[in-house]
Amino acid sequence: MKSTGLVKANLSRLSSIGIGGVVELFIIDSDEYPSSRVLIAGATNILFSPTPPPLMKLSKKFSFIKITDQTLHIGAATPNGRVVSFCRKHNIANFEFLSHLPGTIGGAIKMNAGLKEYETSNYLLSFRTKHGWIDADKAEFLYRYSDIKDVIFEAKFTLQNGFDERKIELFKGLRVNQPKEPSAGSLFKNPPQEYAGKLIELVGLKGYRIADMAFSDRHANFLVNLGEGTYQDAITLIELAKKRVLQRYDIELELEVIVL
Ligand SMILES: Cc1cc2nc3c(=O)[nH]c(=O)nc-3n(C[C@H](O)[C@H](O)[C@H](O)COP(=O)(O)OP(=O)(O)OC[C@H]3O[C@@H](n4cnc5c(N)ncnc54)[C@H](O)[C@@H]3O)c2cc1C
Repeated sequence: MKSTGLVKANLSRLSSIGIGGVVELFIIDSDEYPSSRVLIAGATNILFSPTPPPLMKLSKKFSFIKITDQTLHIGAATPNGRVVSFCRKHNIANFEFLSHLPGTIGGAIKMNAGLKEYETSNYLLSFRTKHGWIDADKAEFLYRYSDIKDVIFEAKFTLQNGFDERKIELFKGLRVNQPKEPSAGSLFKNPPQEYAGKLIELVGLKGYRIADMAFSDRHANFLVNLGEGTYQDAITLIELAKKRVLQRYDIELELEVIVL
């Protein structure tokens, strides 16, 4: 793939759920980018429609990790797996939770991705956008949410000693009920004091399938692509779950997956 300008990209290959067509993708190689385009990264939390908005992606220039001024300094396009490898090698604490979390550090900051109480924002010190370096406490971070609107180019995190191999095992254990088939991660956010997966199961949709799209029979809050899954079937299933949960429990399920 060319590193700058417009490139052709097949979204079904690029996205973890394996759905999408061929589009022209703008590759960002400097601090300038077209404001009319929507940013994607690992596309592990995105469902692409057949007509997505114009898209852009950071180039490899933004994939780096180093120690700067006693902070862990990471380029936004750095895959989470690379962060974990670096931390293991240099005996750095607090990033073990990224070990089974696909995607990039930029996506993880924007989504405040995490597992249980381990969230990306916990050790975030600052991040850089087109407005310069911004202290993390100037942004709002909630469960699977941040209010950051601009492209994050890079970020700095607290540097602390002590990579914990036991946590890697712990997080691996927390993943055993996740499906192996292509998905975009958790479909809905957990409503307060509830679990989206449990609600989907209670309305009878665990394992429910339309053509090649289904609510996983391992974990109902994962929409899985069983082969030739389509956007339309995914949307039909999403609407069905929302409708049934609203009707039966008066709870409005909110999508965690971003639909473009
Ligand atoms: C099998 C599986 C398991 C998963 N498990 C978990 C889990 O346990 N916990 C969890 O939280 N998530 C989980 N996810 C979801 C996903 O891994 C995370 O949300 C991830 O952080 C998304 O990163 P990404 O690089 O793929 O971003 P994308 O999916 O490409 O983008 C997600 C959003 O982030 C924005 N974004 C991406 N990069 C940047 C940037 N540099 N600057 C500004 N905005 C940016 C995009 O515009 C988009 O709005 C899982 C996904 C899969 C497929």
